[in-house]
Amino acid sequence: MKKIAVLTSGGDAPGMNACIRATVRRALNRGLSISGIRKGYEGLIDNDFVELKSSDVSNIIQRGGTILHTARSERFFTLEGRGRAAANLEEHEVEGLVVIGGDGSFRGADALATEYSIPVVGVPATIDNDLWGTDLTIGFDTAVNTALDAIDKVRDTAAAHDRLFIVEVMGRSAGFIALEVGVGAGAEAVLIPETPTDLEKVCAKVKDRVSRGRTSNILVVAEGDEAGNAFEIARKIEDMSGLKSRITVLGHVQRGGSPTTTDRVLASKLGWAAVDALLDGASPCMIGEISSSITHIPLRDSWTKRKQLDPLLITLSENL
Ligand code: ADP
Repeated sequence: MKKIAVLTSGGDAPGMNACIRATVRRALNRGLSISGIRKGYEGLIDNDFVELKSSDVSNIIQRGGTILHTARSERFFTLEGRGRAAANLEEHEVEGLVVIGGDGSFRGADALATEYSIPVVGVPATIDNDLWGTDLTIGFDTAVNTALDAIDKVRDTAAAHDRLFIVEVMGRSAGFIALEVGVGAGAEAVLIPETPTDLEKVCAKVKDRVSRGRTSNILVVAEGDEAGNAFEIARKIEDMSGLKSRITVLGHVQRGGSPTTTDRVLASKLGWAAVDALLDGASPCMIGEISSSITHIPLRDSWTKRKQLDPLLITLSENL
């Protein structure tokens, strides 16, 4: 193998830049040349390649977003789109591809690897932490700390005005962010898709606290909770109990910002390991870290197997 390429795809996550940097420097360090592909699979189809040198990835480890930009690509869902992508890789003499992204990006990468025998390695980068085969995905720790900081501020105003706040956090169909920040922020309840949501019980808990003079109450809701979004839940709570609430939807603020040390270090390790995996012929695989050890899993396992929430965290969220 003489030349590889790297792209970022799907939802952006803080730490993607740190991962690009490590991938580029490890490739150069192992005697490979490396191209960056802009805008994920869109750039792969549109032949948007750029040769990367070590200096091109200087001074980016601390930056959120991704210097390569990211995108969602309808065309990559089609055989024709992937055929174009494979032809462009061949034209540039790229013999291996590092895909930094989430489960959707990995499905696409797996299709490319299967259909065109192109070696691919996936690096898990999504704030949702919903990929099997790694304790943490790149971006999760930063997103959780951003959300925690925001909820701490909401707590100040909730306490000042004796209010019930409902804070909605991201996570798609998973409750990893909500559970982590709910426990970290000392929320009165955490509503996540993985456990049944009993709003009667939540109302009773809040009313009991109010009757005991504890008038600052915060509920953390995962965007994928089956009881609905923060607005629907607020309406249901008011209908059931008369409790009025204020709503904060944190939204995309959770995707931005400078990555935490945890994310920078994880991204550096995984970017490095991804190049080594390509050279070792481990494709198609995902690189992860479990209990401080680098792991390789078949790429498909990352989305076909379901990562479990920490049961102790669920217990803490219900009882502290
Ligand atoms: P993420 O990687 O963050 O989960 P998406 O789910 O949006 O983000 O996926 C990113 C892109 O990966 C999609 O826009 C599409 O181009 C590609 N992709 C996703 N699923 C598939 C699939 N089943 N087959 C081919 N390409 C896919």
